[in-house]
Amino acid sequence: MNLQVQNIGKQFQNGTKALEDVSFQVSQGEFVSVIGSSGAGKTTLFRILNGMMECDSGTILLDGVRLDSGNKREKRNLQKSIGTIYQDFCLVEPSTCLDNVLNACLPDMAFLPSVLGLFGRTRTEEAKRLLERVSLLEKAEEPVKNLSGGQKQRVAIARALMRHPSILLADEPVASLDPVTGRQILTLLKDIQKTEHVTILMNSHNLELSMEFSDRLIGIRDGRIVFDGTPDSLTGDIISRIYQNTAEDPERKEVRP
Ligand code: ADP
Repeated sequence: MNLQVQNIGKQFQNGTKALEDVSFQVSQGEFVSVIGSSGAGKTTLFRILNGMMECDSGTILLDGVRLDSGNKREKRNLQKSIGTIYQDFCLVEPSTCLDNVLNACLPDMAFLPSVLGLFGRTRTEEAKRLLERVSLLEKAEEPVKNLSGGQKQRVAIARALMRHPSILLADEPVASLDPVTGRQILTLLKDIQKTEHVTILMNSHNLELSMEFSDRLIGIRDGRIVFDGTPDSLTGDIISRIYQNTAEDPERKEVRP
């Protein structure tokens, strides 16, 4: 699906303008990283994209359809096209890997089967196939709490894929992992992008990994996009501009008076 973010703005109640006039477009199957220093607005953007937060202004379109259009059910179906994985995995630790993946189906299930955990054969087979996809089938019946960080992130990826997203938001997916494991997770995400043509939109503070794995980078500073281009067009000057300490920057005062 083609994702279009048009003129998004978000101001918090305390007056902080987290996002201002943010616009970009991502085509199906791209791997795009949003980069910027802490407080730039990356998490806010991702929360708006995955429906956890509303923006004050602007529009998000998926294949030309507004994400906030239609009735509740239509909105939910559209929002389903955007899956998310998180830095801290957000799994149910005492439950098995298989159950965690199956839990992704709960919002689409009728009340009784969902409370009884009656997922059915088709869903269970699909969940197992996805655990195999992330090389964890042998851990299907293992409680998540027994897994390593990298394995937990693999379960989270399988859970996200269970909803067949067109776009996978990866919110600091390797920030809690050691460098070798982090690289393995990004290699898996890259493979999912290449093989399943899922769009990967990553938020990472690791510039080196973002440059290595992404087709494109979007640099945010003080809630505004200051760069949108390929990793090889990211010069030292642009990097300084994105990561500049904005506390003493007069431009910042304009953004947050
Ligand atoms: P990043 O993910 O790039 O570190 P965030 O999106 O978390 O940035 O934050 C952007 C700005 O919005 C920061 O100045 C942050 O302090 C502020 N902010 C984030 N969440 C809230 C909130 N719930 N209330 C007020 N300000 C917030």
